[in-house]
Order: sequence, then C-alpha cells, then structure tokens
Amino acid sequence: MKSTLFASFILLSGLAHAASAFVSCDELDVGESMAVHNKDGRSRSKIGQTYALKRVDDVTYEAYINLEFYDYEEEKEKYGKIPLPQDQEHTIRKNLKRCYEQMSSAMKDEHGRLVKIKLFDAEKDLDIPVPAVHKVWYSTAFQRANSSLYYSTMRCDVAVHEAYHILGLVDEYKEEWKEINSNLFQRMFGQKYVPNADGVERPIYDCRAKTNPKSMMSNNIQIFSAHVNAIIYPNCEEKNEIYFACIKNSLKTSRKNLKLPVPLPVGGCAKMPDICYTEDWIKIQQH
Ligand SMILES: [Zn+2]
Repeated sequence: MKSTLFASFILLSGLAHAASAFVSCDELDVGESMAVHNKDGRSRSKIGQTYALKRVDDVTYEAYINLEFYDYEEEKEKYGKIPLPQDQEHTIRKNLKRCYEQMSSAMKDEHGRLVKIKLFDAEKDLDIPVPAVHKVWYSTAFQRANSSLYYSTMRCDVAVHEAYHILGLVDEYKEEWKEINSNLFQRMFGQKYVPNADGVERPIYDCRAKTNPKSMMSNNIQIFSAHVNAIIYPNCEEKNEIYFACIKNSLKTSRKNLKLPVPLPVGGCAKMPDICYTEDWIKIQQH
C-alpha cells in the first residue's frame, strides 16, 4: 500500500474536531489491513464508509464492521442512546454472525474476489485496526430496515445488504411507490413518495441507473466487481470511475416527480455515461 492519503480537517468552530478522509488506490498486501472512515459527505458514494479491511489472500478480503446497538423501542423517533439490554445484544450479534457465514457465497464477485463481512470483536481481532463505531438501533417489531435500524425478524439477505451499506455501497433497486402519499396536495398532483424508516416521506429516487437484478444492492443476491473495487479502493477515482459515474443518481428524484411549482432548472437526474444505461455497469472492474 503506497499512496494512502490521510487528511485531517479542523472544523471552523475552533474545537479540534478531527475527521479523517481516506483514499486508497493501491492494493493491500496479503496480511495487511487498513481502517476506512469516510462520513457520508466525504464518501464518493455519499454513503459513509466505516470499516476495517484485511487482505487474507490473493482473492479474499475481510471487512470488519464495529456495531454498537441501541434500543429503538425505548427512544422511538428520537433515535436515543439507550443501549440494548445485554441478552438482546448477544442474540442479535449471534444472528448476524450466523447470517454473514450463511451468506458468504453471496459475498463473492463474478471473478471470485471475496469481501467477507465480519463483526469486529475487540477482544479477538487484535491484529485489525479498530474500525470506527457504526450505531444501530434495534427493534423487536417489524420496521423498514436501513443501515442503522435492524429488527428481530430481519432476513439474512437483508442483514448482508445493510452491512454493505456500512462499506459505502448505495442502493440499486428500482424504488417503487409503496404507500399512498399522505399529503393531499401532493397526491392531487401525482407526486410519488416513499416512506422511510421513521415514516417520514420523501420523493421517490427514480433517477437510479438500472443494475443487474442479481446485485446484492438490488435484490440481495450477490456482489459484483464494481462493488469489490469500491470497497478495496475506497474513494479512489481511477479504480471506480464508472461506478461513481453510474451511482451519482442513486439518491436523486426526476424533475417530473419532484413536481416543482414552476419548471425550475434544479434537481432532476444527472447525465450519466452510456454504459450506465446497460445493467452490466456493476460488473466492470477497472484496473
Ligand atoms: Zn439498502
């Protein structure tokens, strides 16, 4: 690993808050590891990257995530900080470990490169740089899961999909309008909304590039080359040029759907390279 760049930023508040941005364009050597911490705004995908990566052999990597669990039932909507009771935490950790094991064949791209998800264990993983903590709220009732909200009956494929979000991957599924828009005015004008995990509605993200239906970030089936590159070369433009170009619409809504009161030249889908309009852009491995 030659050109790893760390940069620290001092916030204007005058307090010495340091956030690290992380870019790595070089392959780890076998046995080598690195911590990756790019908050949402510093991650090229706009989804924060919070993990440690170890290269185990030529084609095998382990991505460690450091989860801290909080009780969603106790502090609903406020996303408070009541730690999950120990017995429940023990159960969720056991279930997640089992899921990550069970789904390990889904963690391989079409060239056999494996990025195995592991739960970081401070007592056992002494050779791994400590990954920054990622907070997860845990609910015993069904919720629409996201990378920070899990529920007790969450399926293993969903658990793995959510774990890859912590590595910075974006959603690739076609977002569908699932519920009637509760806002009468917006409903009259046909604006389509989707509820998010807290029941707050937002416009449907209908600008996304269509992807291979087998993708882990689409239908929770498997990862592909572009995913592996985005994880092992975090924030590296030259290794992820096509991926970054094709995911830039992942959180965007078309102007038609935004239903702006006057046709303002704001928002809408960004132009993408032609390759993004085929579904195989996710299989592109850039060297
Ligand atoms: Zn997702």
